Amino acid sequence: MSVTNIEELLVSELKDLYSAEKQITKALPKLVKAATSQELKTAFQSHLEETQGQVERLEQIAEILGKKLTGKTCEGMKGVLEEGDEVVEDTDKGTAVRDAGLITAAQRVEHYEMAGYGGVIAYAKLLGLNDVVELLEQTLEEEKAADEKLTTLSETINQQAQDEFQQAA
Ligand code: FE
Ligand code: ZN
Ligand code: FE
Repeated sequence: MSVTNIEELLVSELKDLYSAEKQITKALPKLVKAATSQELKTAFQSHLEETQGQVERLEQIAEILGKKLTGKTCEGMKGVLEEGDEVVEDTDKGTAVRDAGLITAAQRVEHYEMAGYGGVIAYAKLLGLNDVVELLEQTLEEEKAADEKLTTLSETINQQAQDEFQQAA
């Protein structure tokens, strides 16, 4: 029982997010490769670049707090990313249905991150850590925008998947 207060909980949850973001930087290049739609590839690629910036923000926060954020594994993100691998296993290369599945998998990632960032922002606000709040809010906004971009892409890609299915029948 090493977490007894909100400050310790903040650090513990920041470690979780640091692990999650690191895992995502490894997963996104695989999603870029697995996707067929050029727009989806570009969306994954640009979120990879954003994610690298998010890792750097967490490192800045670690410096501000004088804490290390290494040494924890986010098991939840590990599971969510494994489900993304399953989409690739379960679908054929070059199909819109694979892209549709990748979008849903990626949106699970974004929502899981949003929940985590919402929590740490609330803790940091309570503790009056305004510079930390500001950094975390920048990341949260990027996650929300990534999610919205994926929703927009899904509208055409889901339809395309359905069209490919009907043409094959
Ligand atoms: Fe992220
Ligand atoms: Zn986690
Ligand atoms: Fe993200």
